[in-house]
Amino acid sequence: MALKHNKEKDFSEWYTELVSEAGANLADMRYGIQGAIVETPWAVKIMRAFEAMLEKEVEADGHEPMLLPTIVPEAYIKREKEHVKGFAPELYWVTEGGGKKLEEKFYLRPTGESQIYPMYSIWIRSWNQLPFKRYQSRITVFRFETTTRPFLRGREFNFFEAHDAFATHEDALEQVKNDMVYSENVMHEKLGLPFIFVRRPQWDKFAGAVDTYGAETIVDGKVNTIASTHDLGQNFSKTYDICFMNKKEQKEHAWQTCYGPGLIRIMAGLISIHGDNYGLVLPFEVAPIQVVIIPIIFEKKSADVEKKCRQLEKDLKGKGYRVTYDDSENTAGWKFNEWEMKGVPIRIEVGPREVKEKKLTLVRRDTKKKEIISEKDLDKKIVEYAVELLKNITKKAETDLKDSIHEAKTFADAKKILETKRGIVKAPFCSIDFDGQKCADKLQEEAAAKVRGTLFGKQEKATGKCIMCGKPAKHIVYIAKSY
Ligand SMILES: [Zn+2]
Repeated sequence: MALKHNKEKDFSEWYTELVSEAGANLADMRYGIQGAIVETPWAVKIMRAFEAMLEKEVEADGHEPMLLPTIVPEAYIKREKEHVKGFAPELYWVTEGGGKKLEEKFYLRPTGESQIYPMYSIWIRSWNQLPFKRYQSRITVFRFETTTRPFLRGREFNFFEAHDAFATHEDALEQVKNDMVYSENVMHEKLGLPFIFVRRPQWDKFAGAVDTYGAETIVDGKVNTIASTHDLGQNFSKTYDICFMNKKEQKEHAWQTCYGPGLIRIMAGLISIHGDNYGLVLPFEVAPIQVVIIPIIFEKKSADVEKKCRQLEKDLKGKGYRVTYDDSENTAGWKFNEWEMKGVPIRIEVGPREVKEKKLTLVRRDTKKKEIISEKDLDKKIVEYAVELLKNITKKAETDLKDSIHEAKTFADAKKILETKRGIVKAPFCSIDFDGQKCADKLQEEAAAKVRGTLFGKQEKATGKCIMCGKPAKHIVYIAKSY
């Protein structure tokens, strides 16, 4: 049975249904605070799986884990003026403790910079500690958001952040590329979520940063940012006094970057980019259950079928797969729907015929195609299905992303595309420095879309005129509505 709402026709309702108990049951929205969702075991397992991939990725490149408290003293954020201005409207404050008003209030971290850098100022002393790379994961951050959506925007949500310090700006800029590679290796290669990596316009960068870069995926015609990297230059090291002695025994301020893959945004990407009208479609590597075994029983239970199912479950578990044998009282059809909804990559059907002929019926979640195989080929087939499934959903997502980018030469074209085809508009633009902000504001006002930035790592030659002001274009920019 399919979901009640259709992904192509009413995406928003489809998404909500899929996330809820009526769908794949990923989050319970009945918790007493708006925008604070309860994640179900199924969601937590998926998220932990890709969180572990990200941890492995950054650790392989020299990052060490750390964990800081959730509460931060007020004095910490006050030190960075731009930063405090950027985050002030979203802050939660703790003003009382033990029934008394606190002398110094705390805030709940909206992101890590202001809590981590006072510690870096204590820890970092010498050039031989650089590059200094640390990260924290399996934490939450708090932002007072007015509009919220499960896994897209919340008031408390899962967070992952890496904070690095370097001796030179060149080293820091090299890290921006490394961060892009982490996202490429995990989000694109392992989760099948392709993205465009852009450098943000100056007016839209992270509060206090020199430059911000973002990995943008497309969801229902709008941009969903799944990772950000900030080149902080020496802005924060000067404010927070993060210095090191160079080889000539001179004191220098460190150059910094920070990287934040958006865990909830990645989850939203998995749900909405790969999901279909039958439910989730999960890559094999992150699926909480990778293989489900379903007995096909006709009039009465068959001891042979049951025995075969148990044996298969045991064998596959022994090989390290996450597998379950669904021996519940529900009908086979009900079970098919249930596990399809959950996005389990491979289903094995075992009936009396399969037992007799030493065969198995396999169904792959993404294509829903059935194949009858020899029992002895099962191992080989599981590996093959896992690879093919990821390849297939990745290719589909890549095509969707490519098809959603449209070129425009004039504002009228851009507006028309945003209204009809939606997606991303690629257009000539005067400037992504502050002098282009006026044009961007006008664009936002008249087309309700934002300049997301210029493509990073590949120089796109600008020709023609800015679609807003008509001045010669310095850049080709990507424009879209966003989540
Ligand atoms: Zn312009």
